[in-house]
Amino acid sequence: IFILAIESSCDDTSAAVLCNKKKLSNVVATQKIHEEYGGVVPELASRAHQQNIVPVVHQALSKANIDKKQLSAIAFTRGPGLMGSLLVGTSFAKSLAIGLNIPLIEVNHMQAHILAHFIEEESMTAPTFPFLALTISGGHTQIVLVRDYFDMEILGETLDDAVGEAFDKSAKILGLPYPGGPLVDKYAQLGNPKTFQFTKPRVDGLNFSFSGLKTGILYFIQKEVKKNPDFVAENINDICASIQYTIIQILMDKLKKAVKDTGVKRIAIGGGVSANSGIRKALKEAEHLHGWITFIPKFEYCTDNAAMIGIVGYLKYKEAHFTKQDVTAKARYVIGS
Ligand code: ATP
Ligand code: FE
Repeated sequence: IFILAIESSCDDTSAAVLCNKKKLSNVVATQKIHEEYGGVVPELASRAHQQNIVPVVHQALSKANIDKKQLSAIAFTRGPGLMGSLLVGTSFAKSLAIGLNIPLIEVNHMQAHILAHFIEEESMTAPTFPFLALTISGGHTQIVLVRDYFDMEILGETLDDAVGEAFDKSAKILGLPYPGGPLVDKYAQLGNPKTFQFTKPRVDGLNFSFSGLKTGILYFIQKEVKKNPDFVAENINDICASIQYTIIQILMDKLKKAVKDTGVKRIAIGGGVSANSGIRKALKEAEHLHGWITFIPKFEYCTDNAAMIGIVGYLKYKEAHFTKQDVTAKARYVIGS
């Protein structure tokens, strides 16, 4: 089975070709234009997708050494995401499926962040069911009980900002360019995480909240900068390490609770923030500390990519779970809805 997958939910245009569970190509065009605005500008994102989509798909096919006539189906991200961005991928996928007279398969982006673990890769082992998925990305923070490929239950999620936003907004306060998450990670590796203390939010159950942390960081920085204008520059490593440490503590506390509640000790992470070196380390340590079995995706499958859409496409193809041509993009699209 050859699946062509298309992802255009936010600011990355991506296309991938899979042969069954194996990735043959995974091309990602990242949009640089948003950097100067300090965040994703939806209108500019959809225009850039429009420009990128044809070359990106061509590249994915030629890298995979596959002719479009060999394709078995087209999988695409239906949502959640930015409507204008989703429409580009959705329309393109529909047209190509009609043109080639092959099935169309819609994919939920958040489900794909989880099922990315099932892409066959030498360096990755797939989790067995049931497992807990911690999806941490630019728009979501969820703990999901995964009973089967398409039997997922959200146990908890953020009530306000997502973890990725917590990273990016903290970075913005420190004057770092967008997206600041990877930069906070980079500086954190050189700093002492115990230097500064930030208050952790108190949220019931398995839900999260990150907006208070961001405000706490803002007030702290403003206060210190008044005393010493060079405070940020002089302490950037320790500040980033302390922020990252706090965020990881929040995530690990909830994971511990989820394990206790469910008795499930297999933990898989997914989404852009799972590229974070501190989180990867904390999870590996939890294997020794708490006897968890953890699953950490390759960097390539953490941030937005079409290969994760392709694996869901393949799993649905096997169940002949196809999508009608009158499908529309869905900006808000909860797993299982
Ligand atoms: P969603 O998947 O919820 O629709 P999205 O697709 O925009 O959101 P992703 O591409 O999955 O989000 O993740 C992007 C986020 O990951 C950004 O907030 C970015 O700062 C963050 N991120 C990427 N790498 C790192 C890192 N090493 N450390 C911390 N954050 C990171
Ligand atoms: Fe994503």
